[in-house]
Amino acid sequence: MLAMDYVGRQKRFQQTLTEQKLNGFVVTHAANLRYLCGYTGSNGLLLFLDGRRTFFTDGRYSEQAHDEVKGARVVIPRGSLMAAAANLLEKAGSATVGFEADLTTVSAAKQMKKLAPKRVRWKATSGLIMRQRVIKDADELKLIREAVQLGARVYEEAVSAIHPGVSEAEIAGRLEFAARRGGADGMSFETIVAAGKRSALPHGRASEALVPKRGFVVVDSGVILRGYCSDMTRTVYVGRAGRVERSRYHAVLEAQSVGIAAVRAGITAMEVDEAARSVLRKANLDQYFTHSTGHGVGLEIHEPPRLGNKQTETLEAGMVVTIEPGIYVPGQGGIRIEDMVVVTETGCEVLTPVTKKLIEVPSS
Ligand code: ZN
Ligand code: ZN
Repeated sequence: MLAMDYVGRQKRFQQTLTEQKLNGFVVTHAANLRYLCGYTGSNGLLLFLDGRRTFFTDGRYSEQAHDEVKGARVVIPRGSLMAAAANLLEKAGSATVGFEADLTTVSAAKQMKKLAPKRVRWKATSGLIMRQRVIKDADELKLIREAVQLGARVYEEAVSAIHPGVSEAEIAGRLEFAARRGGADGMSFETIVAAGKRSALPHGRASEALVPKRGFVVVDSGVILRGYCSDMTRTVYVGRAGRVERSRYHAVLEAQSVGIAAVRAGITAMEVDEAARSVLRKANLDQYFTHSTGHGVGLEIHEPPRLGNKQTETLEAGMVVTIEPGIYVPGQGGIRIEDMVVVTETGCEVLTPVTKKLIEVPSS
C-alpha cells in the first residue's frame, strides 16, 4: 500500500491557514478528510487548531480511524463531533476558525456556531483545500494512472458486448462487473451507455433501450480505485458509418486532438475550450456542442478547473483534466470522445490508453 504524505499535505494547508490569518479550521467534507489525513469513512471532523490537528469520529469508525488517520490525534467522543470540537475551542484562547462554507449545510453551520464559545470568530471560506487538491502530487498521480488503466481495461471488455439487440443496461452491467472484479471501489458516476438516437443525450445513462442495427453508441464511464476517479468516453458505430457520420466523428476527434494540443501550464481554461470549440465551429457543428470541454478529476469526479468558455483560471503543471468535446444532433445521434490528461510545463500527457480510431461494430 502506498504511504501518502498526509503530514506534508497538512503542513501545506497549515501555511494556507497562516496566510488567511486563521488559527483554526474545521474540515468535514469526505474527500477533503481523505486528502488531508487518509480517513475513508463517512462521519468525521478534522480540527486544525493552533498548529495541532485532532480528528473526531463516532464509535462505529473507531478502529478504522485509528488505522487510517495520519498526522492527527484521533478522538472518539460520546456526544456529537461538533460538541467535542467545541470543547477544544473552549480551551484555546481567542480563535478565528475557518469552515468550508460551500460544503457545510446551513443546519451544521448553525449547530457549530451554537456549540462553540462565543468568542470564536467563524470565517466562511471556499475552496481553500481544493486549491491544494487541484495540483496532484506524485502519489496521487500514481493512483490516478492506475484508475485510468483499470477504467480503460473495463471499457475494452464492455465494448466487445456492443451488438444490435443488446440493451444499454447489459453493456453497462458488464463494464461495472469488470470494474468490481478488477478491484474498483465503485464507479465514479452512473455509467452512460447511449445507443442510436439516445446518443444525442449528453447524459444518457444506460437504460433498457436496445442497441439498434445502425447508429452511434456513446460509452462514458469511470471507476474509483483506491479513492481516485477515472473518466473516459468513446463512441463506436454499429453498422457501416455513412459519409456524414464519418465526417462528424472526425470533426469531434479533431476538436479533441486540438484541445489536447492546447493544454500546457500557463494557458487559461477558456483558451483550451476555445481551441476545441473552434474546430467544431469551422465544421459548422458548434451549435451541437452544448457543454464545456472538460473538468478536473481526482478524489472527486468533477473538480476544478472547469474548462468552459468563461473560465479564466490558468492551468498549472500537475493538474489532471479531461478533454471531452462532443456533439449531440437531436433525433440523429451524438459523439463524444474523452481522455484524461495531466498538465505539464510544456504540454500534457494523455493518460487514457485507448484508441480513438472510429470503430465499426458489425451489425450482424
Ligand atoms: Zn466522462
Ligand atoms: Zn468527464
